[in-house]
Amino acid sequence: MRPLPTFLCTAIAVALLSLPGLAADEMHPARKGAKVATPDNETPQRWYEQGAQAARAGAAQSPKPNKARNVILFVGDGMGISTVAAARIFEGQLNGASGEENRLSFERLPYVSLSKTYSVDGQTPDSAPTMTAMVSGIKTNQGVIGVTQYARYNDCASANGQSVASILEIAEALGLATGIVSTARITHATPAATYAHTPNRDWESDAELSAEAKANGCKDIARQLVEFPYGDGLEVALGGGRSYFLPNTVADPEDASAFGRRRDGRNLAQEWASRPGAAYVWNQAQFDAIDPRSTHKLLGLFEGSHMEYEYDRPTDAGKEPSLAAMTRKSIEILQANAGDKGYFLMVEGGRVDHAHHAGNASRALSDTVALSDAVRAARSLTSEDDTLIVVTADHSHVFTIAGYPDRGNDILGKVVTEGQLALADDGKPYTTLGYANGPGYRGPGGRPDLTLVDTAHPDFLQEAAIPIAASETHAAEDVGIYASGPGAHAFQGVVEQNVIFHVMSQSQKDINAFLCLLFGGCGTPTNTTPAGKLTRPPLAPPLMEADLRAGLGGGKPPVRK
Ligand SMILES: [Zn+2]
Repeated sequence: MRPLPTFLCTAIAVALLSLPGLAADEMHPARKGAKVATPDNETPQRWYEQGAQAARAGAAQSPKPNKARNVILFVGDGMGISTVAAARIFEGQLNGASGEENRLSFERLPYVSLSKTYSVDGQTPDSAPTMTAMVSGIKTNQGVIGVTQYARYNDCASANGQSVASILEIAEALGLATGIVSTARITHATPAATYAHTPNRDWESDAELSAEAKANGCKDIARQLVEFPYGDGLEVALGGGRSYFLPNTVADPEDASAFGRRRDGRNLAQEWASRPGAAYVWNQAQFDAIDPRSTHKLLGLFEGSHMEYEYDRPTDAGKEPSLAAMTRKSIEILQANAGDKGYFLMVEGGRVDHAHHAGNASRALSDTVALSDAVRAARSLTSEDDTLIVVTADHSHVFTIAGYPDRGNDILGKVVTEGQLALADDGKPYTTLGYANGPGYRGPGGRPDLTLVDTAHPDFLQEAAIPIAASETHAAEDVGIYASGPGAHAFQGVVEQNVIFHVMSQSQKDINAFLCLLFGGCGTPTNTTPAGKLTRPPLAPPLMEADLRAGLGGGKPPVRK
Protein backbone atom coordinates (compact mmCIF):
# COMPACT_ATOMS: atom_id res chain seq x y z
CA MET A 1 0.00 0.00 0.00
CA ARG A 2 1.25 3.48 -0.87
CA PRO A 3 1.84 5.48 2.31
CA LEU A 4 -0.40 8.50 2.77
CA PRO A 5 1.28 11.88 2.40
CA THR A 6 2.36 13.23 5.79
CA PHE A 7 0.11 16.31 5.59
CA LEU A 8 -2.90 14.03 5.04
CA CYS A 9 -2.04 11.85 8.04
CA THR A 10 -1.67 14.93 10.19
CA ALA A 11 -4.99 16.27 8.93
CA ILE A 12 -6.75 12.99 9.72
CA ALA A 13 -5.18 12.86 13.19
CA VAL A 14 -6.29 16.40 13.93
CA ALA A 15 -9.79 15.64 12.63
CA LEU A 16 -10.03 12.54 14.80
CA LEU A 17 -8.83 14.30 17.89
CA SER A 18 -11.28 17.12 17.42
CA LEU A 19 -14.30 14.88 16.82
CA PRO A 20 -16.56 14.97 19.86
CA GLY A 21 -17.05 11.66 21.59
CA LEU A 22 -13.94 10.01 20.23
CA ALA A 23 -11.63 10.58 23.19
CA ALA A 24 -10.51 7.24 24.57
CA ASP A 25 -12.60 7.43 27.77
CA GLU A 26 -15.69 8.13 25.68
CA MET A 27 -15.05 5.19 23.37
CA HIS A 28 -14.56 2.86 26.32
CA PRO A 29 -16.46 4.27 29.30
CA ALA A 30 -14.52 4.18 32.54
CA ARG A 31 -15.69 1.47 34.90
CA LYS A 32 -16.97 2.64 38.22
CA GLY A 33 -15.78 -0.52 39.86
CA ALA A 34 -19.03 -2.22 40.78
CA LYS A 35 -18.37 -5.84 41.58
CA VAL A 36 -19.62 -8.34 38.99
CA ALA A 37 -20.20 -11.91 40.05
CA THR A 38 -17.71 -14.33 38.49
CA PRO A 39 -17.42 -18.06 39.10
CA ASP A 40 -15.91 -18.84 42.53
CA ASN A 41 -13.07 -20.94 41.16
CA GLU A 42 -11.65 -18.14 39.00
CA THR A 43 -8.37 -16.92 40.45
CA PRO A 44 -5.34 -15.30 38.82
CA GLN A 45 -3.43 -18.50 39.44
CA ARG A 46 -6.07 -20.57 37.70
CA TRP A 47 -6.15 -18.30 34.63
CA TYR A 48 -2.36 -18.55 34.39
CA GLU A 49 -2.24 -22.30 34.81
CA GLN A 50 -5.07 -22.97 32.38
CA GLY A 51 -3.44 -20.73 29.79
CA ALA A 52 -0.13 -22.52 30.19
CA GLN A 53 -1.82 -25.91 29.97
CA ALA A 54 -3.55 -24.95 26.71
CA ALA A 55 -0.28 -23.68 25.27
CA ARG A 56 1.50 -26.91 26.18
CA ALA A 57 -1.31 -29.00 24.71
CA GLY A 58 -1.06 -27.02 21.47
CA ALA A 59 2.70 -27.51 21.27
CA ALA A 60 2.33 -31.23 21.91
CA GLN A 61 -0.28 -31.65 19.17
CA SER A 62 1.05 -33.66 16.24
CA PRO A 63 -0.72 -34.57 12.99
CA LYS A 64 -2.34 -38.02 12.77
CA PRO A 65 0.05 -40.23 10.80
CA ASN A 66 -2.40 -42.08 8.54
CA LYS A 67 -5.05 -41.19 5.99
CA ALA A 68 -8.66 -41.07 7.13
CA ARG A 69 -11.08 -43.90 6.52
CA ASN A 70 -14.17 -41.80 7.25
CA VAL A 71 -14.95 -38.14 6.66
CA ILE A 72 -17.78 -36.26 8.39
CA LEU A 73 -18.56 -32.70 7.30
CA PHE A 74 -20.79 -30.63 9.60
CA VAL A 75 -22.22 -27.40 8.23
CA GLY A 76 -23.98 -24.86 10.40
CA ASP A 77 -25.91 -22.93 7.78
CA GLY A 78 -25.32 -19.25 8.48
CA MET A 79 -23.26 -20.07 11.59
CA GLY A 80 -20.88 -17.12 11.61
CA ILE A 81 -18.32 -16.41 14.33
CA SER A 82 -20.71 -14.16 16.30
CA THR A 83 -23.32 -16.94 16.25
CA VAL A 84 -20.80 -19.44 17.61
CA ALA A 85 -19.71 -17.04 20.38
CA ALA A 86 -23.29 -16.22 21.40
CA ALA A 87 -24.30 -19.91 21.27
CA ARG A 88 -21.45 -20.92 23.56
CA ILE A 89 -22.59 -18.34 26.12
CA PHE A 90 -26.22 -19.44 25.61
CA GLU A 91 -25.34 -23.10 26.23
CA GLY A 92 -23.19 -22.25 29.23
CA GLN A 93 -26.02 -20.21 30.76
CA LEU A 94 -28.51 -23.06 30.11
CA ASN A 95 -26.14 -25.16 32.23
CA GLY A 96 -26.24 -22.63 35.04
CA ALA A 97 -22.83 -21.04 34.42
CA SER A 98 -21.98 -17.46 33.50
CA GLY A 99 -21.43 -18.82 29.99
CA GLU A 100 -18.48 -16.97 28.45
CA GLU A 101 -15.99 -19.62 29.56
CA ASN A 102 -18.02 -22.42 27.94
CA ARG A 103 -16.96 -24.07 24.68
CA LEU A 104 -19.25 -25.77 22.19
CA SER A 105 -18.24 -29.33 21.35
CA PHE A 106 -16.58 -28.38 18.07
CA GLU A 107 -14.66 -25.51 19.67
CA ARG A 108 -12.59 -28.21 21.34
CA LEU A 109 -11.32 -29.62 18.02
CA PRO A 110 -7.55 -29.07 17.72
CA TYR A 111 -7.30 -27.37 14.31
CA VAL A 112 -9.06 -24.13 13.37
CA SER A 113 -8.86 -22.06 10.23
CA LEU A 114 -10.87 -19.26 8.61
CA SER A 115 -12.86 -19.68 5.40
CA LYS A 116 -13.42 -16.88 2.86
CA THR A 117 -16.95 -17.39 1.63
CA TYR A 118 -17.46 -15.07 -1.38
CA SER A 119 -18.71 -16.69 -4.59
CA VAL A 120 -17.59 -16.12 -8.19
CA ASP A 121 -20.15 -13.36 -8.66
CA GLY A 122 -21.11 -12.44 -5.09
CA GLN A 123 -19.27 -10.57 -2.32
CA THR A 124 -21.79 -12.02 0.13
CA PRO A 125 -22.79 -15.53 -0.98
CA ASP A 126 -25.80 -17.79 -0.70
CA SER A 127 -25.65 -21.45 0.30
CA ALA A 128 -25.57 -22.86 -3.24
CA PRO A 129 -22.11 -21.73 -4.41
CA THR A 130 -20.63 -21.99 -0.90
CA MET A 131 -21.61 -25.63 -0.41
CA THR A 132 -20.54 -26.40 -3.98
CA ALA A 133 -17.14 -24.95 -3.03
CA MET A 134 -16.93 -27.11 0.09
CA VAL A 135 -17.91 -30.41 -1.55
CA SER A 136 -16.70 -30.00 -5.15
CA GLY A 137 -13.54 -27.92 -4.78
CA ILE A 138 -14.44 -24.94 -6.99
CA LYS A 139 -16.10 -21.58 -6.43
CA THR A 140 -19.11 -20.89 -8.63
CA ASN A 141 -22.02 -18.50 -9.16
CA GLN A 142 -24.80 -17.42 -6.80
CA GLY A 143 -27.80 -19.75 -6.86
CA VAL A 144 -26.22 -22.63 -8.78
CA ILE A 145 -25.42 -26.09 -7.41
CA GLY A 146 -22.75 -28.57 -8.52
CA VAL A 147 -21.95 -26.77 -11.77
CA THR A 148 -19.04 -24.53 -12.77
CA GLN A 149 -19.11 -20.74 -13.11
CA TYR A 150 -19.62 -21.17 -16.86
CA ALA A 151 -23.21 -22.18 -16.16
CA ARG A 152 -25.53 -19.19 -15.92
CA TYR A 153 -28.13 -18.99 -13.15
CA ASN A 154 -31.56 -20.31 -14.17
CA ASP A 155 -30.28 -21.32 -17.63
CA CYS A 156 -30.49 -25.08 -18.09
CA ALA A 157 -28.83 -25.12 -21.50
CA SER A 158 -25.80 -23.23 -20.17
CA ALA A 159 -25.29 -25.86 -17.45
CA ASN A 160 -24.95 -28.71 -19.93
CA GLY A 161 -21.49 -30.26 -19.54
CA GLN A 162 -20.65 -28.03 -16.55
CA SER A 163 -21.36 -30.53 -13.75
CA VAL A 164 -18.55 -31.04 -11.29
CA ALA A 165 -18.30 -34.13 -9.10
CA SER A 166 -18.83 -33.83 -5.36
CA ILE A 167 -16.81 -35.67 -2.73
CA LEU A 168 -19.95 -37.67 -1.92
CA GLU A 169 -20.26 -38.77 -5.55
CA ILE A 170 -16.59 -39.73 -5.71
CA ALA A 171 -16.96 -41.63 -2.43
CA GLU A 172 -19.96 -43.56 -3.77
CA ALA A 173 -18.17 -44.35 -7.02
CA LEU A 174 -15.23 -45.73 -5.04
CA GLY A 175 -17.46 -48.00 -2.95
CA LEU A 176 -17.60 -45.99 0.26
CA ALA A 177 -20.88 -45.64 2.12
CA THR A 178 -22.42 -42.16 2.04
CA GLY A 179 -25.06 -40.20 3.88
CA ILE A 180 -26.61 -36.75 4.28
CA VAL A 181 -28.55 -35.26 7.19
CA SER A 182 -30.21 -31.86 7.43
CA THR A 183 -32.84 -30.10 9.47
CA ALA A 184 -33.71 -28.16 6.31
CA ARG A 185 -35.36 -29.76 3.29
CA ILE A 186 -33.03 -32.50 2.05
CA THR A 187 -33.43 -30.84 -1.37
CA HIS A 188 -32.33 -27.42 -0.01
CA ALA A 189 -29.11 -25.90 -1.35
CA THR A 190 -26.63 -27.22 1.24
CA PRO A 191 -27.54 -30.94 1.17
CA ALA A 192 -28.37 -30.75 -2.57
CA ALA A 193 -24.80 -29.70 -3.42
CA THR A 194 -23.60 -33.15 -2.34
CA TYR A 195 -25.69 -35.03 -4.93
CA ALA A 196 -27.33 -32.63 -7.43
CA HIS A 197 -26.27 -30.50 -10.39
CA THR A 198 -28.53 -27.62 -11.35
CA PRO A 199 -28.30 -23.98 -12.46
CA ASN A 200 -31.17 -23.06 -10.10
CA ARG A 201 -31.22 -24.06 -6.42
CA ASP A 202 -35.01 -23.66 -6.33
CA TRP A 203 -35.71 -26.48 -8.80
CA GLU A 204 -36.41 -28.81 -5.88
CA SER A 205 -39.34 -30.71 -7.47
CA ASP A 206 -40.57 -30.91 -11.06
CA ALA A 207 -43.24 -28.33 -10.15
CA GLU A 208 -40.51 -25.67 -9.91
CA LEU A 209 -38.78 -26.50 -13.21
CA SER A 210 -39.09 -23.83 -15.91
CA ALA A 211 -40.23 -24.68 -19.44
CA GLU A 212 -36.65 -24.09 -20.61
CA ALA A 213 -35.35 -26.46 -17.92
CA LYS A 214 -37.74 -29.22 -18.98
CA ALA A 215 -37.03 -28.67 -22.69
CA ASN A 216 -33.27 -28.94 -22.12
CA GLY A 217 -33.40 -31.99 -19.84
CA CYS A 218 -32.63 -30.51 -16.41
CA LYS A 219 -33.89 -32.77 -13.62
CA ASP A 220 -35.36 -31.54 -10.36
CA ILE A 221 -33.27 -31.95 -7.20
CA ALA A 222 -35.45 -34.56 -5.42
CA ARG A 223 -35.37 -36.75 -8.52
CA GLN A 224 -31.58 -36.44 -8.68
CA LEU A 225 -31.36 -37.75 -5.11
CA VAL A 226 -33.39 -40.87 -5.89
CA GLU A 227 -31.81 -41.41 -9.34
CA PHE A 228 -28.27 -40.92 -7.99
CA PRO A 229 -26.08 -42.57 -10.66
CA TYR A 230 -22.83 -43.42 -8.85
CA GLY A 231 -21.98 -46.54 -6.84
CA ASP A 232 -25.09 -48.02 -5.28
CA GLY A 233 -26.57 -44.65 -4.26
CA LEU A 234 -26.64 -42.95 -0.88
CA GLU A 235 -27.10 -45.13 2.19
CA VAL A 236 -28.75 -42.43 4.29
CA ALA A 237 -30.76 -39.26 3.60
CA LEU A 238 -32.53 -37.71 6.59
CA GLY A 239 -34.20 -34.32 6.75
CA GLY A 240 -37.26 -32.37 5.71
CA GLY A 241 -38.84 -31.75 2.31
CA ARG A 242 -41.34 -34.62 2.06
CA SER A 243 -43.68 -32.73 -0.28
CA TYR A 244 -40.96 -32.55 -2.94
CA PHE A 245 -40.93 -36.35 -3.12
CA LEU A 246 -44.71 -36.98 -3.18
CA PRO A 247 -47.21 -36.50 -6.03
CA ASN A 248 -49.71 -33.66 -5.71
CA THR A 249 -52.48 -36.26 -5.48
CA VAL A 250 -51.13 -37.73 -2.22
CA ALA A 251 -52.08 -36.15 1.13
CA ASP A 252 -49.30 -35.51 3.63
CA PRO A 253 -49.28 -38.13 6.43
CA GLU A 254 -48.78 -35.46 9.12
CA ASP A 255 -51.20 -32.90 7.73
CA ALA A 256 -54.25 -34.17 5.79
CA SER A 257 -54.86 -30.71 4.30
CA ALA A 258 -51.42 -30.63 2.65
CA PHE A 259 -50.41 -32.50 -0.48
CA GLY A 260 -47.24 -33.45 -2.31
CA ARG A 261 -45.84 -31.02 -4.88
CA ARG A 262 -44.87 -33.34 -7.75
CA ARG A 263 -46.75 -33.05 -11.02
CA ASP A 264 -45.09 -36.02 -12.73
CA GLY A 265 -47.09 -38.49 -10.62
CA ARG A 266 -43.95 -40.08 -9.18
CA ASN A 267 -43.76 -41.08 -5.52
CA LEU A 268 -40.00 -40.85 -5.00
CA ALA A 269 -40.22 -41.99 -1.36
CA GLN A 270 -41.87 -45.21 -2.50
CA GLU A 271 -39.33 -45.61 -5.28
CA TRP A 272 -36.53 -45.31 -2.71
CA ALA A 273 -38.13 -47.85 -0.37
CA SER A 274 -38.84 -50.40 -3.13
CA ARG A 275 -35.16 -51.39 -3.31
CA PRO A 276 -33.86 -54.36 -1.28
CA GLY A 277 -32.86 -53.42 2.28
CA ALA A 278 -34.28 -49.92 1.86
CA ALA A 279 -36.72 -48.11 4.14
CA TYR A 280 -38.63 -44.84 4.19
CA VAL A 281 -39.75 -43.24 7.46
CA TRP A 282 -41.50 -39.96 8.21
CA ASN A 283 -41.84 -39.78 12.00
CA GLN A 284 -39.91 -40.35 15.19
CA ALA A 285 -41.47 -43.75 16.06
CA GLN A 286 -40.66 -45.23 12.64
CA PHE A 287 -37.17 -43.71 12.84
CA ASP A 288 -36.58 -45.22 16.28
CA ALA A 289 -37.69 -48.64 15.02
CA ILE A 290 -35.02 -48.71 12.28
CA ASP A 291 -32.34 -51.32 13.00
CA PRO A 292 -29.04 -50.02 11.55
CA ARG A 293 -27.79 -53.58 11.04
CA SER A 294 -30.62 -54.64 8.75
CA THR A 295 -31.40 -51.33 6.99
CA HIS A 296 -29.01 -50.65 4.11
CA LYS A 297 -30.77 -47.59 2.67
CA LEU A 298 -32.70 -45.16 4.85
CA LEU A 299 -34.71 -42.18 3.64
CA GLY A 300 -36.32 -40.11 6.40
CA LEU A 301 -38.47 -37.11 5.49
CA PHE A 302 -39.89 -35.69 8.71
CA GLU A 303 -41.67 -32.57 7.44
CA GLY A 304 -43.40 -31.42 4.28
CA SER A 305 -40.89 -28.56 4.17
CA HIS A 306 -38.08 -27.82 6.65
CA MET A 307 -37.96 -29.74 9.93
CA GLU A 308 -38.88 -27.92 13.13
CA TYR A 309 -36.45 -25.64 14.93
CA GLU A 310 -34.88 -27.44 17.87
CA TYR A 311 -36.93 -25.26 20.24
CA ASP A 312 -40.23 -26.27 18.55
CA ARG A 313 -39.41 -29.95 18.07
CA PRO A 314 -41.26 -31.20 21.18
CA THR A 315 -44.55 -29.80 19.86
CA ASP A 316 -44.35 -31.36 16.38
CA ALA A 317 -47.44 -33.39 15.40
CA GLY A 318 -45.63 -36.50 14.12
CA LYS A 319 -42.58 -36.00 16.39
CA GLU A 320 -39.12 -35.63 14.89
CA PRO A 321 -35.69 -36.97 15.83
CA SER A 322 -33.05 -34.44 16.93
CA LEU A 323 -30.08 -33.59 14.73
CA ALA A 324 -27.91 -35.57 17.16
CA ALA A 325 -30.21 -38.61 16.94
CA MET A 326 -30.18 -38.46 13.13
CA THR A 327 -26.38 -38.16 13.17
CA ARG A 328 -26.05 -41.13 15.50
CA LYS A 329 -28.36 -43.37 13.44
CA SER A 330 -26.62 -42.33 10.22
CA ILE A 331 -23.19 -43.23 11.54
CA GLU A 332 -24.47 -46.59 12.77
CA ILE A 333 -25.94 -47.39 9.34
CA LEU A 334 -22.82 -46.16 7.52
CA GLN A 335 -20.55 -48.17 9.82
CA ALA A 336 -22.65 -51.29 9.17
CA ASN A 337 -22.57 -50.70 5.39
CA ALA A 338 -19.02 -49.47 4.91
CA GLY A 339 -17.52 -52.96 4.51
CA ASP A 340 -13.74 -52.69 4.25
CA LYS A 341 -14.09 -49.09 2.98
CA GLY A 342 -15.05 -46.06 5.01
CA TYR A 343 -17.85 -43.54 4.65
CA PHE A 344 -18.59 -39.90 3.90
CA LEU A 345 -21.32 -38.17 5.90
CA MET A 346 -22.57 -34.57 5.65
CA VAL A 347 -24.65 -33.17 8.51
CA GLU A 348 -26.27 -29.75 8.23
CA GLY A 349 -27.77 -27.66 11.01
CA GLY A 350 -29.89 -26.03 8.36
CA ARG A 351 -32.09 -23.72 10.37
CA VAL A 352 -29.58 -21.54 12.19
CA ASP A 353 -29.83 -19.61 8.93
CA HIS A 354 -33.62 -19.50 8.90
CA ALA A 355 -33.92 -18.21 12.46
CA HIS A 356 -31.41 -15.44 11.66
CA HIS A 357 -33.34 -14.52 8.51
CA ALA A 358 -36.40 -14.17 10.75
CA GLY A 359 -34.42 -11.92 13.13
CA ASN A 360 -34.91 -14.44 15.94
CA ALA A 361 -31.65 -14.98 17.83
CA SER A 362 -33.10 -17.44 20.37
CA ARG A 363 -33.89 -20.14 17.82
CA ALA A 364 -30.65 -19.52 15.92
CA LEU A 365 -28.72 -20.17 19.12
CA SER A 366 -30.66 -23.27 20.19
CA ASP A 367 -30.19 -24.73 16.70
CA THR A 368 -26.45 -23.99 16.95
CA VAL A 369 -26.35 -25.87 20.26
CA ALA A 370 -28.22 -28.74 18.55
CA LEU A 371 -25.45 -28.86 15.93
CA SER A 372 -22.87 -28.91 18.71
CA ASP A 373 -24.75 -31.85 20.25
CA ALA A 374 -24.64 -33.65 16.88
CA VAL A 375 -20.86 -33.15 16.62
CA ARG A 376 -20.48 -34.52 20.16
CA ALA A 377 -22.55 -37.59 19.18
CA ALA A 378 -20.34 -38.17 16.12
CA ARG A 379 -17.17 -37.78 18.18
CA SER A 380 -18.40 -40.37 20.68
CA LEU A 381 -19.07 -42.93 17.90
CA THR A 382 -15.82 -42.43 15.98
CA SER A 383 -12.06 -42.35 16.56
CA GLU A 384 -9.73 -39.43 15.85
CA ASP A 385 -7.31 -42.00 14.47
CA ASP A 386 -9.39 -42.87 11.41
CA THR A 387 -12.13 -40.22 11.07
CA LEU A 388 -11.67 -36.67 9.82
CA ILE A 389 -14.32 -34.37 11.28
CA VAL A 390 -14.75 -30.89 9.79
CA VAL A 391 -17.21 -28.35 11.22
CA THR A 392 -17.83 -25.11 9.37
CA ALA A 393 -20.45 -22.73 8.01
CA ASP A 394 -21.37 -21.73 4.49
CA HIS A 395 -21.63 -18.01 5.30
CA SER A 396 -22.30 -15.61 8.15
CA HIS A 397 -25.21 -13.33 9.11
CA VAL A 398 -25.41 -9.63 10.11
CA PHE A 399 -25.68 -10.69 13.75
CA THR A 400 -23.80 -8.87 16.49
CA ILE A 401 -23.02 -9.07 20.23
CA ALA A 402 -23.04 -5.46 21.40
CA GLY A 403 -22.52 -3.12 24.32
CA TYR A 404 -20.63 -3.77 27.54
CA PRO A 405 -22.78 -6.35 29.32
CA ASP A 406 -21.41 -7.63 32.60
CA ARG A 407 -19.94 -11.09 32.85
CA GLY A 408 -22.77 -13.65 32.97
CA ASN A 409 -25.42 -11.18 31.76
CA ASP A 410 -28.26 -13.07 30.06
CA ILE A 411 -27.08 -13.38 26.44
CA LEU A 412 -30.70 -12.89 25.31
CA GLY A 413 -31.21 -10.04 27.75
CA LYS A 414 -30.76 -6.28 27.79
CA VAL A 415 -27.27 -4.88 28.28
CA VAL A 416 -26.56 -4.48 31.98
CA THR A 417 -23.28 -2.75 32.78
CA GLU A 418 -21.95 -2.77 36.33
CA GLY A 419 -25.35 -3.84 37.54
CA GLN A 420 -27.19 -0.97 35.84
CA LEU A 421 -29.44 -1.20 32.79
CA ALA A 422 -27.42 0.48 30.03
CA LEU A 423 -29.33 3.17 28.14
CA ALA A 424 -28.86 4.38 24.58
CA ASP A 425 -28.93 8.11 23.71
CA ASP A 426 -32.73 7.92 23.46
CA GLY A 427 -32.85 6.91 27.10
CA LYS A 428 -34.04 3.41 26.29
CA PRO A 429 -32.36 0.06 27.04
CA TYR A 430 -31.07 -2.20 24.27
CA THR A 431 -30.33 -5.90 23.86
CA THR A 432 -26.88 -7.47 23.66
CA LEU A 433 -27.86 -9.33 20.49
CA GLY A 434 -28.99 -7.47 17.41
CA TYR A 435 -28.95 -7.36 13.63
CA ALA A 436 -27.67 -4.79 11.15
CA ASN A 437 -30.86 -5.32 9.11
CA GLY A 438 -33.99 -7.45 9.01
CA PRO A 439 -37.55 -7.81 10.31
CA GLY A 440 -36.55 -6.58 13.78
CA TYR A 441 -36.49 -2.94 12.61
CA ARG A 442 -38.98 -1.01 14.79
CA GLY A 443 -38.87 2.47 13.23
CA PRO A 444 -39.50 4.98 11.90
CA GLY A 445 -41.30 6.25 15.01
CA GLY A 446 -38.29 5.65 17.25
CA ARG A 447 -37.12 2.58 19.12
CA PRO A 448 -39.50 0.73 21.43
CA ASP A 449 -38.98 0.95 25.17
CA LEU A 450 -37.78 -2.55 26.08
CA THR A 451 -37.70 -1.86 29.82
CA LEU A 452 -40.65 -4.15 30.54
CA VAL A 453 -40.20 -6.45 27.51
CA ASP A 454 -38.96 -10.01 28.04
CA THR A 455 -36.27 -10.00 25.36
CA ALA A 456 -35.28 -13.57 26.30
CA HIS A 457 -38.66 -14.85 25.14
CA PRO A 458 -38.08 -17.39 22.33
CA ASP A 459 -40.29 -15.40 19.95
CA PHE A 460 -38.62 -12.02 20.56
CA LEU A 461 -37.14 -10.43 17.44
CA GLN A 462 -33.92 -8.56 18.17
CA GLU A 463 -33.80 -4.98 16.92
CA ALA A 464 -32.42 -4.30 13.46
CA ALA A 465 -30.88 -1.02 12.30
CA ILE A 466 -32.09 -1.16 8.69
CA PRO A 467 -35.62 -2.14 7.66
CA ILE A 468 -35.65 -5.28 5.51
CA ALA A 469 -38.92 -6.82 6.59
CA ALA A 470 -38.82 -9.87 4.34
CA SER A 471 -35.58 -11.30 5.64
CA GLU A 472 -32.42 -10.38 7.51
CA THR A 473 -29.42 -10.90 5.20
CA HIS A 474 -26.28 -12.99 5.06
CA ALA A 475 -22.93 -11.36 5.85
CA ALA A 476 -19.62 -11.50 4.02
CA GLU A 477 -17.01 -11.95 6.74
CA ASP A 478 -15.09 -15.20 7.17
CA VAL A 479 -16.47 -18.22 9.00
CA GLY A 480 -14.56 -20.75 11.10
CA ILE A 481 -13.35 -24.22 10.11
CA TYR A 482 -12.91 -26.54 13.09
CA ALA A 483 -11.30 -29.95 12.44
CA SER A 484 -9.94 -33.11 14.04
CA GLY A 485 -8.57 -36.42 12.82
CA PRO A 486 -6.25 -37.48 9.99
CA GLY A 487 -5.49 -34.59 7.65
CA ALA A 488 -7.07 -31.93 9.87
CA HIS A 489 -3.69 -30.23 10.33
CA ALA A 490 -3.86 -29.08 6.68
CA PHE A 491 -6.34 -26.42 7.76
CA GLN A 492 -3.96 -23.52 8.28
CA GLY A 493 -4.50 -19.78 8.18
CA VAL A 494 -7.13 -18.05 6.12
CA VAL A 495 -8.27 -20.14 3.16
CA GLU A 496 -10.68 -19.97 0.27
CA GLN A 497 -13.79 -22.01 1.03
CA ASN A 498 -13.14 -24.51 -1.79
CA VAL A 499 -9.96 -25.64 0.02
CA ILE A 500 -12.26 -27.63 2.35
CA PHE A 501 -13.03 -30.13 -0.43
CA HIS A 502 -9.34 -30.58 -1.19
CA VAL A 503 -8.36 -31.14 2.44
CA MET A 504 -11.12 -33.73 2.86
CA SER A 505 -10.19 -35.43 -0.43
CA GLN A 506 -6.46 -35.62 0.21
CA SER A 507 -7.10 -36.91 3.72
CA GLN A 508 -9.34 -39.88 2.80
CA LYS A 509 -7.23 -42.79 1.61
CA ASP A 510 -9.34 -44.08 -1.30
CA ILE A 511 -10.34 -40.65 -2.59
CA ASN A 512 -6.76 -39.43 -2.38
CA ALA A 513 -5.50 -42.49 -4.30
CA PHE A 514 -8.19 -42.00 -6.94
CA LEU A 515 -7.44 -38.32 -7.48
CA CYS A 516 -3.72 -39.09 -7.63
CA LEU A 517 -4.31 -41.68 -10.34
CA LEU A 518 -6.59 -39.34 -12.23
CA PHE A 519 -4.58 -36.17 -12.05
CA GLY A 520 -1.11 -37.23 -10.91
CA GLY A 521 1.10 -34.93 -8.91
CA CYS A 522 1.07 -37.05 -5.77
CA GLY A 523 4.66 -38.21 -5.86
CA THR A 524 3.74 -41.79 -6.81
CA PRO A 525 5.29 -43.72 -9.75
CA THR A 526 4.12 -42.37 -13.08
CA ASN A 527 0.76 -43.62 -14.25
CA THR A 528 0.89 -42.06 -17.68
CA THR A 529 1.88 -43.44 -21.06
CA PRO A 530 4.22 -41.43 -23.32
CA ALA A 531 1.09 -40.08 -24.98
CA GLY A 532 0.11 -38.66 -21.64
CA LYS A 533 -2.98 -40.83 -21.22
CA LEU A 534 -3.74 -42.31 -17.84
CA THR A 535 -3.57 -46.09 -17.72
CA ARG A 536 -5.57 -46.86 -14.66
CA PRO A 537 -8.33 -49.14 -13.52
CA PRO A 538 -11.81 -47.80 -14.30
CA LEU A 539 -12.45 -46.51 -10.84
CA ALA A 540 -15.27 -44.16 -11.75
CA PRO A 541 -17.77 -43.67 -14.56
CA PRO A 542 -16.37 -41.58 -17.42
CA LEU A 543 -18.93 -38.85 -16.82
CA MET A 544 -17.46 -38.33 -13.41
CA GLU A 545 -13.98 -37.97 -14.83
CA ALA A 546 -15.27 -35.33 -17.20
CA ASP A 547 -16.99 -33.66 -14.27
CA LEU A 548 -13.78 -33.67 -12.30
CA ARG A 549 -11.79 -32.27 -15.19
CA ALA A 550 -14.34 -29.51 -15.63
CA GLY A 551 -13.99 -28.71 -11.96
CA LEU A 552 -10.24 -28.50 -12.25
CA GLY A 553 -10.28 -26.09 -15.13
CA GLY A 554 -10.04 -28.69 -17.90
CA GLY A 555 -13.53 -27.80 -19.10
CA LYS A 556 -13.93 -25.13 -21.73
CA PRO A 557 -16.00 -22.01 -21.23
CA PRO A 558 -19.11 -22.11 -23.40
CA VAL A 559 -19.16 -20.04 -26.56
CA ARG A 560 -21.14 -16.90 -25.70
CA LYS A 561 -23.68 -15.93 -28.33
ZN1 LIG B 1 -29.77 -17.94 4.25
